[in-house]
Amino acid sequence: MRAPLIAGNWKMNGSLELVESFAETLSHTELPAGVELALMVPFPYLSVARARLPKAMAIGAQTLSDKSDGAYTGEVSGSMLSDLGMQMVLVGHSERRTLFGEDDAAVLARVQAALSAGLKPVLCLGETLEERDAEQTEAVVLGQLEAVMDALMPEQRRTLVLAYEPVWAIGTGRTATPEQAQQVHAAIRARLAQYDAGLAESMQILYGGSMKPDNAAELLAQADIDGGLIGGASLKVDDFLAICQSA
Ligand code: PGA
Repeated sequence: MRAPLIAGNWKMNGSLELVESFAETLSHTELPAGVELALMVPFPYLSVARARLPKAMAIGAQTLSDKSDGAYTGEVSGSMLSDLGMQMVLVGHSERRTLFGEDDAAVLARVQAALSAGLKPVLCLGETLEERDAEQTEAVVLGQLEAVMDALMPEQRRTLVLAYEPVWAIGTGRTATPEQAQQVHAAIRARLAQYDAGLAESMQILYGGSMKPDNAAELLAQADIDGGLIGGASLKVDDFLAICQSA
């Protein structure tokens, strides 16, 4: 069976003070048993988050370079993230795709860089509102999935976590209904089964897009939703913990 995974994504938010407030609260909070936890923080806070937050919580970055170490001013490599004790990294978040021009080839290169560095890539997939209205949701999401999976070897595929994040639901307060989300998650899992039945069975598929304490339980109750990727609500430790409790 798939363990639920609740992953926070601070985006370009947070501060040392926020890391400390998470550390303080989590130091006297019993974390829910059987739920995997992760927090993706901005690069400058990775080290301190790793040092201060419970070992049971994975810490990850929000992107990485597609290059290995070398003369690439401003870039951060997968091996540096591993060196700091990171276990995960987001790849292909819609903000990276739309605001920073990462196309499917760029996303694949980053997945491969993460795998080479021993990091677990959390591959984000999702359609825009125009694409949904044009009934292209599954074509878009499965196309993004195939662009990565087709290029990987079977054992590499098994390392990934997927996150379905409809672009129109990210940061908008407008969440997908549990039925809308489940439908896409089921389509993703059916596509995975065409690669390998075991892969479909074992792969965690998270939902992201305005998941909050008051809507998490019904989303997480869906058969093919194995956790959440939480943006805004991961900036408040109480909200984040409330979502973890409902997993
Ligand atoms: P949100 O962001 O929860 O603020 O909608 C989710 C994400 O972008 O990962």
